[in-house]
Amino acid sequence: MRKLELHWKILIGMLLGLIFGFVMTGIDGGASFVSNWIKPLGTIFVKLLKLIAIPLILASLIKGISDLKDISKFRNIGLRTIGIYMCTTVVAIVIGLLLVNAIQPGDGISEETINKLTETYATDSEVTSKLETAAQQKSAGPLQFLEDMVPDNAVAAMSNNKLMLQVIFFTIFLGISLLLVGEERAKPLKDFFDSLNDVVLKMVDLIMLVAPYAVFALLASVVVSSGDPELLIALLKYSGVVVLGLLLMVVFYCILVTVFTKKNPLWFLKEMSPAQLLAFSTSSSAATLPVTMERVEEHIGVDKEVSSFVLPVGATINMDGTSLYQGVAAVFIAQALAFDLPLSAQLTIVLTALLASIGTAAVPGAGMVMLVIVLESVGFPPEKFAIGLALIFAVDRPLDMFRTVVNITGDATVSMLVAKSAGKLGKPNVKEWDDHLDEVR
Ligand code: ASP
Repeated sequence: MRKLELHWKILIGMLLGLIFGFVMTGIDGGASFVSNWIKPLGTIFVKLLKLIAIPLILASLIKGISDLKDISKFRNIGLRTIGIYMCTTVVAIVIGLLLVNAIQPGDGISEETINKLTETYATDSEVTSKLETAAQQKSAGPLQFLEDMVPDNAVAAMSNNKLMLQVIFFTIFLGISLLLVGEERAKPLKDFFDSLNDVVLKMVDLIMLVAPYAVFALLASVVVSSGDPELLIALLKYSGVVVLGLLLMVVFYCILVTVFTKKNPLWFLKEMSPAQLLAFSTSSSAATLPVTMERVEEHIGVDKEVSSFVLPVGATINMDGTSLYQGVAAVFIAQALAFDLPLSAQLTIVLTALLASIGTAAVPGAGMVMLVIVLESVGFPPEKFAIGLALIFAVDRPLDMFRTVVNITGDATVSMLVAKSAGKLGKPNVKEWDDHLDEVR
């Protein structure tokens, strides 16, 4: 009998997790049972994925650069990547703004709902801490992000998942120097990183053995900690606009894949589905990165020379789903609180959400922090920031799950486009998960 494909196993795990979560919410003590006994499995899984992200970036990026015979190729790939990333992000924000202006989800929301949401969430510790983080980020100068990209201690950079751009900077520097010392002298180090790369990819296989169970735990714990269903329903129209926008973004990626790479978009989505399902379950592009890389390289056929640079950079700076959501959320809050946003302010949103996407960390809920900066850029009164965030907080986690899927799908699409333009989009070298697993067992 044919074994069940990985994405089906993950999907079944997710569905069972959802059902289990709902059942446990209705049982006395069910929620704390899930938090104490089920959630840890999901947390350990996410930690394992994050654990291998840095060694994977290091090994695969060095392998990618040192396989290039000529550095100027790398510069071309770099420029093209950043250029396409910026274009897709602008498209995402524009789609979001068009939808939110056309559908106006904030206009119909009643005074009573606004008060209830404000009472429930404006002083919530998570909202307060997001506001504090945003205030810290705001005080930075315009070139702070460049300064932050350069590490002064390579080991310290690698010891902190939030410093992924610093690791990428160091690795590129190392990779280029490796190219410059000449083949013979570079060989021992290159062999070391080649071997490390193979080993880390094997670690991804091992971790994926527990993926279907881990997503069960992750989804069950999201369900038991979700807020008041009445408030979730009050925000249905707003959530609908965000999800519709995200769906349109996926359609846009499919068009890009068809037009520029001549590949079947449904095949692309199917091959990427395990990574998308994990992005949905973990709400973290950083945690999903090892799986995104493996899918793009082995199942889509993007050469390591491209994927090893495009994907880690994308996980950190390219967040189409998040930017789209920020555009929709900012206008929704303005509509609900009757704050006027003329066209010029909406154009400012395009620019700040684009920059915010670079500054947003690839972890759950980070998009909401940068939303504060978007709100500030359009002159929204600071004393109302807490109310603004309170309005959308109840549905932030589910929307985060959807936008993270779009974030990683965008990265994968761009890696295909860049690979195609550099002649590096080959045939997939598919090793079915079951083959991997048979090897592991
Ligand atoms: N969770 C998102 C990500 O990791 C970021 C966000 O939108 O909050 O891609």
